[in-house]
Amino acid sequence: MTTKYIFITGGVVSSVGKGVTAAAIGRLLKERGLKVAVQKLDPYINVDPGTMSPYQHGEVFVLDDGAETDLDLGHYERFIDIRLNRVCNITTGQVYAEVISKERRGDFLGGTIQVIPHITNEIKRRIALVSKSTGADVVLVEVGGTVGDIESLPFLEALRQLRTDLGRENTAYIHVTWLPYIGATDELKTKPTQHSVHELRSIGISPDMIIARSDQPVYDNLREKIAQFCDVEKRAVIPMTTVSTLYEIPLLLEKEKVAEYLLERLSLQSKKEPNWHVWETLVTETKRKKPKVTIALVGKYVELHDAYISVREALKHAALALGVDLDLKWVHSTNLEKGKGLEVFDKVSGIVVPGGFGSRGIEGKILAAHLARTRKIPYFGLCLGMQLMVVEFGRYVLGTDQVNSSEFDPATPNPVIDLMAEQQEIKEMGGTMRLGLYPCILQSGTIAAKAYGAKKIEERHRHRFEFNNQYRDLFASKGMVFSGLSPDKKLVEIAELRDHPFMLGTQFHPEFLSRPTRPHPLFMAFMRAAAEKAGVEYLDPPLPLE
Ligand code: GLN
Repeated sequence: MTTKYIFITGGVVSSVGKGVTAAAIGRLLKERGLKVAVQKLDPYINVDPGTMSPYQHGEVFVLDDGAETDLDLGHYERFIDIRLNRVCNITTGQVYAEVISKERRGDFLGGTIQVIPHITNEIKRRIALVSKSTGADVVLVEVGGTVGDIESLPFLEALRQLRTDLGRENTAYIHVTWLPYIGATDELKTKPTQHSVHELRSIGISPDMIIARSDQPVYDNLREKIAQFCDVEKRAVIPMTTVSTLYEIPLLLEKEKVAEYLLERLSLQSKKEPNWHVWETLVTETKRKKPKVTIALVGKYVELHDAYISVREALKHAALALGVDLDLKWVHSTNLEKGKGLEVFDKVSGIVVPGGFGSRGIEGKILAAHLARTRKIPYFGLCLGMQLMVVEFGRYVLGTDQVNSSEFDPATPNPVIDLMAEQQEIKEMGGTMRLGLYPCILQSGTIAAKAYGAKKIEERHRHRFEFNNQYRDLFASKGMVFSGLSPDKKLVEIAELRDHPFMLGTQFHPEFLSRPTRPHPLFMAFMRAAAEKAGVEYLDPPLPLE
C-alpha cells in the first residue's frame, strides 16, 4: 500500500497544543486499524535536544534506540500507544551535519551545495525513512514552530515539494491556528488565522484542513468565515476548544469527523470501527471527584512543568487507574537547601525525585530522600532520584556527610555513585550517555519483582553515573536491596529499602513507557503505597483499561 502523509503546521502562536493534536489524530487513525507513525521536524540547529537546558526545551524524551528527542514524541507514544525510533525526530542540525559531511567526502564533487535542492532533498530522504523503518500506512509529520519563522522555511519547502512528488491523493496538509478572544467586544477573531494561511499559501502550501484552537466556543458563522477566507471546506474547519483533560481531545476530533475527512481525502479505507470506550472511561474518571493523594515532585526546573512532563503523566496514569486524584506539589529543591518550604513534607503521602544533571539543588533532593526514609514516606527516585537515595543512605550507613556522587563532588572520599567505566574516556557531550533500552533482571520477592510480575524487564536509560559496586555488600547488610541488576549483574538498575513501605529508585526512566491505558507497574506500586500512607480508599483491582 502507498504510504499516506499528513503534514501538520502551526500558525499565529506557538504552544497551542500542535503536538497533542498530531498525537490525537494519530489515535483516530489507529482506532480505524491503520498503522500510524509520527515524525517531528525541529527547526533548531542542535543535532538533538540532549544538550539543551530543560528551561529552553522542556523534557528530553528518550526512545528505545536511545534517541534523545523532543517531548512531543512522548505525546505521540502515549496517545497512540506506539514505540517510535530515531528517524521520528529530525532537526536542522542533523540535516546540515549530514549534507556537510557528504560534501566533505566528495559526494557532490563539482556542485554548489544549496538549501534547494540539497537540504530539502535530505529532509525528504529522512521523511521517507519513517515508513521504511516502521511500516506505517500513514505518517504524520509535525513541523515545530509557527509558519513565518525563517528557520522552518526549508522544512516547509520540502513538504510543498512532496505534494508533487507523491501526489495529491497521498498528501494532506493540516494547519493548526489560534483564535484570540477580545473581551471588550466578546468575540473571537479570525484575522490572525487568515494571515497565517495567507503566509502558508505564499510558500505554496494550501491547507486541506484548519484546526482552530480557542478558549471560547466557536460558532458556525465563524467556521463559515474561516472556510471562505482560507479556501477550505467548511467541514474541514475544525474548532478545538480548550478542554479540561487531554484525553478529551481525540473524542472531540472524532465528533468533528476529522478522521472521516482525512480518510476520504487520502482515499483510505477504515479497517475497523473505532472503539472509544476506554477513552470515554478515562475522561469520566478524570472528571469524577475522587479521594486526593498528595505527592511532592522535588526538582530544580519545577517552574517549567514541561521539564517533567512524562513523570507527571505517568503519575496521572497510575492515579487514574487506582481511582484517586493526583494532587501534585511542585517543590523547588534549591529552596529546601535554604531551609525554605520544608513544611510541605508534613502534608504529602509520597515523594518523587526525578532525573537531573549538575549540582544545583542536589542537597535539597538529598534532604527530601532523608525525610522520606526517616518518616517512612513513600519515595520514588528516577535515575538521579535513585542515585541521591543511595547517597542519603550512604551518609546514614557510613555515619558521615562525606558521601556523594562523583558528579557533584569529584574529590569525595566515598563516591557511592561514580562514573561508569565505559564513560571514563568520553569527551564529547552530545549523544554519549548510556542511552535507550537495556534489560534488567529482577530479584524475586522484592517490591520491584512483585510490581512487574516478571523476571526480566527492559527500560529506557539516560545516564553517565551508576551505583559504585564497592559499596554493594555493606549497603545490602544495612537493608538496601538491589532488586534489579543488568544481566551480567554488574550494574545496579533498581535499589529499594527493606525496612520501609516503599523507598525505591531506578537507574532507568520508567516514566517514558507509561501509557494512559497501561500505567507503569512501578508508578502503580508507588501510588498504591502513597494512597495507603494517605489512608484513602483506592481501587483494588485497578480500573480495567485495556
Ligand atoms: N546526572 C546523572 C547521570 O548522568 C543522572 C542522569 C539522569 O537523571 N537522567 O548519571
